[in-house]
Amino acid sequence: MSSTIKSPWLVHYDASSCNGCDIEVLACLTPMYDVERFGIINTGNPKHADIFLVTGSVNEQNIKVVQQIYEQMLEPKVVIACGVCATTGGIFKECYNTLGGIDVAIPVDVYAPGCAVRPEAIIDAVVTGLGILEEKRAKLANKQDLSVNLEDDVTAAKKIVDGQTVREAALKATLGGA
Ligand code: SF4
Repeated sequence: MSSTIKSPWLVHYDASSCNGCDIEVLACLTPMYDVERFGIINTGNPKHADIFLVTGSVNEQNIKVVQQIYEQMLEPKVVIACGVCATTGGIFKECYNTLGGIDVAIPVDVYAPGCAVRPEAIIDAVVTGLGILEEKRAKLANKQDLSVNLEDDVTAAKKIVDGQTVREAALKATLGGA
């Protein structure tokens, strides 16, 4: 796992699971698995979260909720689909209102299959997600640097244009045309 510059905060949403995977997510917080040793904090506010962990499949009822939570999270962010229902639709796949796994609603970064998904698989997915989060953070910082450089270039170009305008005005004044 790469080093992180801040504690990764996680928001968990139960899309339509049977609660089997949610119990395993809670197990990760117990002293036995102790996911908090990675500095992870479980938050209820998507705006504070870096990682979106979803259990259960997407259906007509919850697709908008999944998308809204995702949109409320700031960049960079990582999505983890936990359990076979979240990865493919699982046992609910053929249900009349099931649309599929989480990736029918939002982009997914890490898939953690299993029915129910094991705590070890969840922790492994979270650790993988932290690496992806760092990569995204670095790319975003690079992009911001590029845009700052671009702004500097535009300002410099403007100065050159202004300089030419000043020189043209001086030339016209010298020639008596101003
Ligand atoms: S993967 Fe299995 S345990 Fe998890 S929500 Fe689906 S049916 Fe339940």
